[in-house]
Amino acid sequence: MGSMETRTALVGLSKSQLRAWVSETLGEPAYRGTQLAKWIYEKAVADFAHMTDLPASLRVRLSEIAIVSPNTISLTQRSQDGTVKCLLRLADGNEVECVLLPYEDRVSVCLSTQVGCAMGCRFCATAQGGYTRNLTAGEIVDQLLHLQRLCTRRISHVVLMGMGEPLLNLENAIAALRLMHDEVGISYRRITVSTVGIVPKIYALAEHDLPITLAISLHAPDDETRSRIMPVNRKWGVDTLIQAARDYFEKTKRRVTFEYLLLREVNDTPRHAEQLAKKLRGVPCLVNLIPFNYVPTPDEFQRPEVERVRRFRQILESAGIETTQRVERGHDIDAACGQLRGRHWGRPIPRVAQTG
Ligand code: SAH
Repeated sequence: MGSMETRTALVGLSKSQLRAWVSETLGEPAYRGTQLAKWIYEKAVADFAHMTDLPASLRVRLSEIAIVSPNTISLTQRSQDGTVKCLLRLADGNEVECVLLPYEDRVSVCLSTQVGCAMGCRFCATAQGGYTRNLTAGEIVDQLLHLQRLCTRRISHVVLMGMGEPLLNLENAIAALRLMHDEVGISYRRITVSTVGIVPKIYALAEHDLPITLAISLHAPDDETRSRIMPVNRKWGVDTLIQAARDYFEKTKRRVTFEYLLLREVNDTPRHAEQLAKKLRGVPCLVNLIPFNYVPTPDEFQRPEVERVRRFRQILESAGIETTQRVERGHDIDAACGQLRGRHWGRPIPRVAQTG
């Protein structure tokens, strides 16, 4: 501790970059870079000593000049339901949260793309801390690698729904998705990117034409309601956003998911549901309802009763709109959607002992 880290961090480098690095820096044959990529991404191994198909002398040299990841897990919380929430401490001391969600048929992870967030959504815990900086591609994929080490089953699904706005860090987010696809082996069809609705960036994402799922946090069918809870709506309104979703489908043939957070009396009335159904008529999409997970904010939003949620859903479905409801997990550890950082907000974050 205390000494400046001068070793090269390898996480974030692609296979071809690792191949170039081993030959240029170490004078080793390029295939050693392929082996490194396999260990780092496919096997989620971070310790050179465990990379058994590399010669012992090379492993020693690697550990002298390089490090797989400069980031460490500073806190781990396990929920009754199997959800694990981690705090990843980055090389500069900033921290972001990431969550492992094991289900019967798949293992999903929820990853952050920024330290903090600048979007200011009124109901969101992250928003209250403001924005610090973008994560690098390496810092995004490293969350997945750290989570994989906590789980014997292979991670199959990824959602960029943690802290931050992925489309305001689009280049790094896409570079991270490419690493997950090319090096870790995760199918693009099992990746979801969630946005607050940065319209020009939705068009930019469509140009990449990746078969991922785009989720848009809509949360209201009209500008008045949406602007009240999501300041970003003052820049790109509901109709512009829904048009972007149509255009996204035209370009990528991937239908969009509209997330709809239900806040009692704010956006959860039958009138809101009817208006939403009307606006989404003919849009290739599905709606995912998320009952508000309580976080203390100045507005003191409330979660709607089960009956109100049922009613809202029923209105959408009878209008022919495919609707799902988020299965909520990790409530007891504040890992539920929008609650990241909830409990630690304003308090020092406890640390667990580090090894190594
Ligand atoms: N910035 C992106 C991704 C991060 S937020 C976005 O806005 O989509 C991920 C999702 O959690 C968004 O749909 C967001 O609106 C939702 N969310 C935020 N706070 C929440 C809360 N308290 N309860 C439930 N969902 C919340």
